[in-house]
Order: sequence, then C-alpha cells, then structure tokens
Amino acid sequence: MKFNTKTIHGGQHHDPSTGAVMPAVFQTSTYVQESPGKPIGEYEYSRAANPTRTALENALASIENGAKGLAFSSGLAATDCLLRSFKAGDEVIAMDDLYGGTYRMFTRIYKDSGIKFHFIDLTDLEKLQSLINPNTKLVWVETPTNPLMKLADIAEIAKITKQHNILFAVDNTFATPYLQKPLDLGADVVMHSATKYLGGHSDVIAGALIIKDAQLAEQLHFQQFATGATLGPMDSFLVLRGIKTLHLRMQRHCENGEKIAAYLSNHPKISTVYFPGLESHPFHEIAKKQMSGFGGMVSFKFKSGAKADAISFLEKLQVFTLAESLGGVESLANHPALMTHASIPEEKRKETGISDDLVRLSVGVEDIDDLIADLEQALK
Ligand SMILES: *Cc1c(COP(=O)(O)O)cnc(C)c1O
Repeated sequence: MKFNTKTIHGGQHHDPSTGAVMPAVFQTSTYVQESPGKPIGEYEYSRAANPTRTALENALASIENGAKGLAFSSGLAATDCLLRSFKAGDEVIAMDDLYGGTYRMFTRIYKDSGIKFHFIDLTDLEKLQSLINPNTKLVWVETPTNPLMKLADIAEIAKITKQHNILFAVDNTFATPYLQKPLDLGADVVMHSATKYLGGHSDVIAGALIIKDAQLAEQLHFQQFATGATLGPMDSFLVLRGIKTLHLRMQRHCENGEKIAAYLSNHPKISTVYFPGLESHPFHEIAKKQMSGFGGMVSFKFKSGAKADAISFLEKLQVFTLAESLGGVESLANHPALMTHASIPEEKRKETGISDDLVRLSVGVEDIDDLIADLEQALK
C-alpha cells in the first residue's frame, strides 16, 4: 500500500458488529468477563488497551512502517516512556538544538536520576563517535530541529548506532512520515508530538512512539501500561481522523512553506531565512537526501537584529495567529526566545542561535495570497 492510501486505510478495519466505517469512540474503562480472568474479547481495562486507541496505534505503525505504535497523553509522555528504559550510569547523546520541553525533561528530571546527557552538534559524526563508550545507551535526534531547522543525517547516524548496539530514536514531529521515515532509514524508535501535524487541527494534546522491533515494542507497552500516560478514546479518535488527511495537508504545508520562504528571502528587512528547501540552507543536501519535501516550518531573523522589530511584526499579524505550537491547518507565528524556548537558559539560547529577533512561522494551509499579504503588511 502506498503512503497516501495508508493514511486512510493502514491498519484499519470496519467495525464487524455494526459496519461502522470509523471506529467508535469506546468511552469505557472496563470490559465484561465471562469467568474470572476470562474477558469475552481481547480487552480488559483501558489503561492496557482500548479499541479506539488500538485503531490509532495500528494507523501509527502503518504510516511509520513500525512493528507497533503506542499512543500517549502527550508528546512528552511518549519521550518519558522511552527514557524510563534507562538507569543511573547510562549515557544519552542528544542533539544540541532540541524542543525546549525535551531538553527540560532530560536536564531537570532524568539528569537527577543519574543518567548522563551529552548535547552535541549531531552533524559532527566524529564528535558522536568520540563520545560513544560502553555506557552509551541512546542517541536522540530531532530533525529538522525547532526552531533553526538544523538537520541530522539519519542513515549515517544509524550506521554508527548499529555498529555499537545503541538505541536510536528520532523525534519526527516536524517532518512527519509524509516527508521522512526514520525507521526505514535505520532508526529504532520514532517519537511524535501528535499534537502537531498528525492531529493537524490544534484541538488535541497527544504523543506517540512507533517501534521497529516487536520485542522492544512489548517492553515499551509494558512501561506505558505500568506508568499510565495513555491517550484517551476521544483524543485517539481525533488523532486518527487527523491522520486520514495528513498527506493532503502536508502537500499544502510544503507548497505554502516554500513560497513563504522564497518571499522572506527576498525581503529587504529580513536577513536569514531558515528553511531546509532553500538552496542556501546549510542542510539542504541532507534534506534532499532523506526528506521527500521540506515542510511548512519557516524561521527568520531581521537585518536590524532588533527584538523590537520581531515583536512589532508579531503584534501586527492578522491571518497568522500569535501562539505557541505548530502543525495545525491554521498559520501560527511564535517568538521562540519569549515563548516556546523560554525554558532554555538565555546563555544556551545565544549559543545555539535563538536570538531575540528570531521569529518562527508554522505555515498553515490557507490561501497563499492571504498569507503573503499578511506578512507584507506586518513587515511594513
Ligand atoms: C511539541 C513538541 C514536543 C512535545 O510534545 P507535546 O505534545 O507538547 O507534549 C516534542 N517535540 C517537538 C519537536 C515538538 O514540537
């Protein structure tokens, strides 16, 4: 089955009892047993499994080409489930330009439990090699990164992690499997904030892990069951519905993203535009190699370098909404230093390039003429 069919049919079945085309929202916590310990069907208690969540998890496994999908109450809950696999003394190598909440979890929760984290520029594969030792258990990559659109070469990193028997996880939130399939490129686990493009309508907080190996999947399912951050049936239904139009939305996000990146690149008030589809982008070659398009996330800085210019621009937008988050049908604008990345210490932000004049756009699927007209009036 091709991807654009999988988003609609992958892992899905009509309901045999009613013929319903979509799964019901099984708003139930428990299931009948005919005799103690003998449920009449395959379900016992909804923390372990719920049919609506199962339908979503099957769809997730299908679109990312994994053995199993697991749906969580948020993206961070998904990351947390994976991180619980490690213990004091283990070492994790992660990219230095991570989602703020991921960085906060690693440094404020797991560091205290004795896990050692190395945050490095993962485009430097020699640096990666040099840090690997027998305690290294996980390489964590986000690509493209948020908000500077750095890329890491998934296939090249997978070669190294395989050689050393290290688990390799990729946060695929920005690219989505429409554009990039980390498991096919050699990663072991894919993580999603399904809050973003998979859900696609800014109406749900949800997360996912998709695992290539069935045995590891069982281990992680046990961890999820034992700790409890599962996704409820209504939210599972919403993400499943979102996935059915993922390919259509992504196609338009990519078209609009490309046009806006080109518009901003030619604007006299803008200095740098961060978009993997631009030939001038330092990671354009890797993007072409591992992504089938460039997505709808565009960041940029002002020639003036002034925070005031960024703020005045953001206040004037009318079609773009000033809000955190991304990946919905509506266009959003964000000031990373004051909003999504405020939890990263100022010094660290400066180091990675998240300056006060940096603006991040999540380009939606509206008419491109309205989006560009809005940018034009706000830049004036
Ligand atoms: C939003 C986001 C997360 C966290 O997901 P939540 O659903 O907000 O918990 C992780 N990674 C990336 C890249 C994100 O954009």
